Amino acid sequence: MRALTYTGQLSLSNVPVPVPTGDQVLLKVRLAGICNTDLEITRGYLSFNGIVGHEFVAEVVDGPSQWLGQRVVGEINVACGECDMCRQDIVSHCRNRATVGIRNHDGAFAEYLALSVQNLHRVPDSVSDEQAVFVEPLAAALQNLSLVHLRPNQNVVLIGAGKLGLLCALALRQTQARVRVLVRREKQAAIARAWGLIPVKFDEIEPNSAEVVVDCTGTAEGFSLALGLIRPRGTLILKSTYQGLPPADLSRLVVDEITVVGSRCGPFDAALRFLDSGAIDLSPMIEATYSLADGLAAFEHAFQPGVLKVMLKP
Ligand SMILES: [Zn+2]
Ligand SMILES: [Zn+2]
Repeated sequence: MRALTYTGQLSLSNVPVPVPTGDQVLLKVRLAGICNTDLEITRGYLSFNGIVGHEFVAEVVDGPSQWLGQRVVGEINVACGECDMCRQDIVSHCRNRATVGIRNHDGAFAEYLALSVQNLHRVPDSVSDEQAVFVEPLAAALQNLSLVHLRPNQNVVLIGAGKLGLLCALALRQTQARVRVLVRREKQAAIARAWGLIPVKFDEIEPNSAEVVVDCTGTAEGFSLALGLIRPRGTLILKSTYQGLPPADLSRLVVDEITVVGSRCGPFDAALRFLDSGAIDLSPMIEATYSLADGLAAFEHAFQPGVLKVMLKP
């Protein structure tokens, strides 16, 4: 089968169809999305080797009869089931976890993928492939609400309004909080407006004024910027991993008693309910769809600044 593999460089390869082992089923990938983590992996992030890709919707083509033919999405953390975190049902923090397309597990930029049945969620018929492919990042966005209690009258600012950032802002908006999104490009501003968010430029935000700031930039500058916007006793949610240490004034965290919250993977079932409600159309986020055969061109496109979601269709 065709697959996009990373082994020091990204290439389109011909590899054997995976053979499911243990409680795995065989999935035929219908649609997959490129995220920033995938781009980072092709720059050597986490020293991953194998088939890339972790945001997908697929069909079960081999497995237990109750799953056969089902359209599914899959959680990306494959847990051991035995460590202390698994025993406390905190499986996304399993100490021995593999992560689809990120750590010790092949990913979804391929025709087929073998994945544990434990990781699967059925996609309702009302949710199209083009919406379902967003379940993984949307779940990650909803995780902010699992970790921080936002009140409807709060003043929230999100910076880093890219692929994940816009979804995070959309999730925050569900609390009816006043969510302002720092944007530089008109495309992002238009999506933000369509979703009931308030696009703003940097100089429109009063320094040290926001009760909650979400940083989706993943950059040192972004962290410093976020710290400059937050008010005393505010909460700073960090949604992206950082390359290197931000040159930030950490004393401000102490003096102004700022709470810092890290946030990673989130609830798939909640993301599916959100999409099933039909309340929101995520398709404006889709920039282009490429066949897997054109996967390298798809990555090139996804690397361009300001580009939102690039999809791969095996
Ligand atoms: Zn991702
Ligand atoms: Zn475990």
